Amino acid sequence: MKAAVWLGDNQVEIKEIPIPEIGEEEALLKVRAAGVCATDYHIISGALKIGKAPNVQGHEICGEVVKINTKRTDIPLGQRCVVATSIGCGHCDYCREGKQYICTESSEIGYFPHNGGYAEYVKVPVSAIVPISDKVSDKAGAILESTVCPTESLMRIGVPFGGSVLIAGTGPAGLAFIMVAKLMGAAKIIVLGRDEKSQIRAFKYGATHYVNIKTSPDAVGEVINITNGNKADVVVEATGAKPMIESMPDYVKKGGDIILYGIPSDEDEISFPVKKLVVEEISVHGAVGNTKAWYPLVKMIENGSLNVEQMVTHEFTLDEINKAFDLYRNKDKTLIKAIIKF
Ligand SMILES: [Zn+2]
Ligand SMILES: [Zn+2]
Repeated sequence: MKAAVWLGDNQVEIKEIPIPEIGEEEALLKVRAAGVCATDYHIISGALKIGKAPNVQGHEICGEVVKINTKRTDIPLGQRCVVATSIGCGHCDYCREGKQYICTESSEIGYFPHNGGYAEYVKVPVSAIVPISDKVSDKAGAILESTVCPTESLMRIGVPFGGSVLIAGTGPAGLAFIMVAKLMGAAKIIVLGRDEKSQIRAFKYGATHYVNIKTSPDAVGEVINITNGNKADVVVEATGAKPMIESMPDYVKKGGDIILYGIPSDEDEISFPVKKLVVEEISVHGAVGNTKAWYPLVKMIENGSLNVEQMVTHEFTLDEINKAFDLYRNKDKTLIKAIIKF
């Protein structure tokens, strides 16, 4: 089969490799579409040290079951599906709580040593298969993974019905937070960004307010006005930029929640106003998991309340995969999500 093999820094080549053999409780999927994630770009470019080459990356997968070896009877051959890619040991306390992504033996399909979706076929554990109906397109399926983690954190922390959520950033994660916060009942969705393009994007995806931190003389004051003298109930950082992360406590109301999703670079030292967090009872949450959100998200796409496929701005064939990485390399402003179509 054809696969895009990561061979070393900035080196991804299309190669012929064997179709994987499946074992017990495993399935072989024919990949229909795969999302190209910024994380993969950072790994293949050498900036982010996760796993090692050679490996087939790709953890955002929409496929079709072509072989299956399981006691389960509810997944027929030909079943279209998405893949919940986190793999845990299955028996530790974290795994039993459904948090295999923080299991000490946790790994993920699409990260070494597990080949992923940038190939014609991929092997997955049967437990990772999330079936989808025809109402979920290949495009939507291919990028669903990038929506799952934001959704999981909002499900865990909760969006006050009629409340306010402030989101920093309008990348794919920021947009996912906007769409899901709206669905979960936020009345005010305030987006922080730096330019007009991001502002247009924010409103298109459901923001009610936009605060341009580059041009506003008093961004915090604007947020206080928008929230009628308070600040936001939930604040989400989805850029990973040090100054943005450090400003998050300024925007959250007393007793509120901060979700940290963007990952700063290893060199960044982030300072947080601990006294303020203590005396104002502000909770700070990390967000990396995604197990519980898969099925609810599929249902919300199927019933038409959530349109994730609008985030797909670029489509390539597997042979063209380096063009997708070039979009990241060149910091292309038109990119939200790129997918590989098979
Ligand atoms: Zn990803
Ligand atoms: Zn475990």
